[in-house]
Amino acid sequence: MEFPINEFQQAETPFYYYDLGLLRRTLAEVKRTAGDVHVSYAVKANNDARILKLIAEAGLGADCVSGGEIEASLAAGFPAGKITFAGVGKTDREITIGLTAGIGCFNIESLPELEVINELAGKLGKVAPVAIRVNPNIDAHTHSYITTGLAENKFGINLEQLADAIDAVRSLPNVSLRGLHFHVGSQVLSMEPYAHLCRRVAEIEASFPDVEFKVINVGGGLGIDYENPDANPIPDFGAYFSTLHNNLQLRPGQEVHCELGRSIVGQCGSLISRVVYVKHGTKKDFVIVDGGMSELIRPALYDAHHPIQNLSAAAGGELMKYDVVGPVCESSDVFATDELLPETRRGDLIAFRCAGAYGETMASNYNLRHLNPSIYYED
Ligand SMILES: *Cc1c(COP(=O)(O)O)cnc(C)c1O
Repeated sequence: MEFPINEFQQAETPFYYYDLGLLRRTLAEVKRTAGDVHVSYAVKANNDARILKLIAEAGLGADCVSGGEIEASLAAGFPAGKITFAGVGKTDREITIGLTAGIGCFNIESLPELEVINELAGKLGKVAPVAIRVNPNIDAHTHSYITTGLAENKFGINLEQLADAIDAVRSLPNVSLRGLHFHVGSQVLSMEPYAHLCRRVAEIEASFPDVEFKVINVGGGLGIDYENPDANPIPDFGAYFSTLHNNLQLRPGQEVHCELGRSIVGQCGSLISRVVYVKHGTKKDFVIVDGGMSELIRPALYDAHHPIQNLSAAAGGELMKYDVVGPVCESSDVFATDELLPETRRGDLIAFRCAGAYGETMASNYNLRHLNPSIYYED
């Protein structure tokens, strides 16, 4: 990836840098390989207004998990009918935002929630389209904090309770059943959990031969290459969509939907930070940068490692070992230990790569810190 260093030199750090050209190429690849799968974008991965607008223009739907995300998606130009609303704790206010806008589907995660949606829709004289989020009890073999499809997770309705949930939807006047919704977890690189999910969908459908499920939504979770972003800037969408095509047994007229987040925006973003000090300790040398866990929390939260590039150092020099740390007053504010970098100096610009997903959206102002406006590149 090329970085506009001169522009960076003028800017206040830390900030996020987004390569919108790469985002466009990624979206083109999704369109080329998706076939008849309806693709939505999981807004929680990155809700930057320019990014949302590009994704809306590419024709994707928006998968939202809050009223705020529904409003941001509408403002970015996603048609209401292509917006879905998921999450275990939808409030009355948020549900009303969705009902008023006329969104395409509420992915319900419990019976109490279903009853509230029915009641609020009734007050507005509407019938809310709902899909039941089923917990498929599949281990996606990813980090425990981002595994969502196991019976002990808080998400969805367990298989044993599905028949009751379907009966409940059918008995209530102001909700109508659109289909079933699943999600196995995030940063999934093997295709096996998806093939497994497709087989599980077929088993579930076989138990409900008389119920119409117009939509089968297989969720998201496709991973990105966090080690080699330049070699693999665009995930293998072809393998993902062919796994769905080859393993789902669709009924006539049925639609397949998916909701991809990280795989769409992950590689197009970097956190750009400046070296404040290089501190030579007795055991270690530290590169202390002006961005930290308050701007990019994935290393502290998930033990994630983002590739680190010194944009100011000349290429080809000898590599040295550093611990790269942020300024926040927490021991977990560490980007990497024993990272090999060219000799690094105060003032150097550092890029933390693969930070387009769950980076800026998870930023906080802990320590009353301040994230500067993003810089965008269009080619
Ligand atoms: C977070 C989430 C997604 C997107 O996950 P990615 O790993 O970013 O693709 C899709 N569906 C649901 C229900 C989610 O919670």
